[in-house]
Amino acid sequence: MRKRRVVILGATGSIGQSALKVARDIPERMEIVGMSAHRNGDALAAAAKDFPRARCVRTDGPDGMDRLIGLATLPGADLVLVAIVGTAGLQPALAAIEAGKDLAVASKEILVMAGEAVTQAAAKAGVRILPVDSEHNAIFQCLEGRDISTVKRLILTCSGGPFRHTPREEFEAITPEHALRHPTWRMGKKITVDSATLFNKALEMIEARWLFGLPIGQVEVIVHPQSIIHSMVEFVDGSTLAQLSHSDMGFPIHYAVTWPDRVPNSLRPLDFAQLARLDFEAARRDDFPALDLALEAGTRGGTLPAVMNAANEIAVEAFLAGKIRFPKIWGIVAKVMAECPHADRPDLEQVIQTDGTARALASRLALE
Ligand code: NDP
Repeated sequence: MRKRRVVILGATGSIGQSALKVARDIPERMEIVGMSAHRNGDALAAAAKDFPRARCVRTDGPDGMDRLIGLATLPGADLVLVAIVGTAGLQPALAAIEAGKDLAVASKEILVMAGEAVTQAAAKAGVRILPVDSEHNAIFQCLEGRDISTVKRLILTCSGGPFRHTPREEFEAITPEHALRHPTWRMGKKITVDSATLFNKALEMIEARWLFGLPIGQVEVIVHPQSIIHSMVEFVDGSTLAQLSHSDMGFPIHYAVTWPDRVPNSLRPLDFAQLARLDFEAARRDDFPALDLALEAGTRGGTLPAVMNAANEIAVEAFLAGKIRFPKIWGIVAKVMAECPHADRPDLEQVIQTDGTARALASRLALE
């Protein structure tokens, strides 16, 4: 029975707090050896009481990146959970890989921005990338090490967000308060807005492409409002496997930490008689253009996924700050994708440079 010695980058966020809950639940399998907070020193101090042996760092100062990298490469750790919102986790993730640590990745943005660099570095170092995003964790469970050539398609489920039934004419009037009311998941603000625009699913399509090594054309999306099936794999023989559980991030975090074992926990199991039904419907692709933008970014590749991700981060910030209306999030991303200079085979430095260019362009568009 292997005990994982875990560092959590972003311990004060929604994923970080769920991970701490898992650690309290299975102390014989998960030991917290390091935690980072950005601004929320109080939450970090509270967590430190439960995990007094963990090294704790604040990262909102000028040496924040060095501190993150120091924590990500902590000698006593063997698994680093990247749960920082946005792309600030990229450098520490690469440092952790280089130091021989396995990665548990919640921060989908880093795989969208630099999926090739991260997956290649992991393969070179011989470390594992364990998906924490519930959809990818579900696919990981369905695949169970099976060869990817036996897969026909990956089917990502999507709750549809709070505006699944909202007519397009009403999108202009959507406020941050409306967008932050997610029907099935309680999460950080950025991912909650991403779930409302469907950019969350868009990012996940590209994340899946890198985690599982499939062309994006084999990654599909289906709306499943109950968020009980977390994703599915259809194999070449026509059979489809699915992973089901309540919508609680404790499940995928628990699996990433205990993999490849199945370990009892105190998470609430499903009661099928009470669930009664599971529904599915096609996504409104014309009204929620994020999915087609992801298909374009994932098909063309190169720097385009990084551009999509960067523009979206800036547009979401502008929306939450009341500077732009809801539909302009899609507008800004589409325009930045069309206008930002493109490289087909970028190295990591070019990706980082293009990310900066896309952010500057998006910020300018947000002011118009
Ligand atoms: P939150 O906003 O709740 O938490 C973000 C965490 O990142 C906090 O610990 C915050 O610190 C820290 N942080 C913020 N900015 C920086 C920075 N510049 N440098 C270092 N640390 C920083 O986000 P979530 O937990 O919801 O999401 C985290 C990641 O996980 C995202 O990439 C998201 O897409 C992904 N994810 C989240 C899911 C969820 O259920 N929440 C589900 C699947 C994926 P502090 O609060 O101390 O300032």
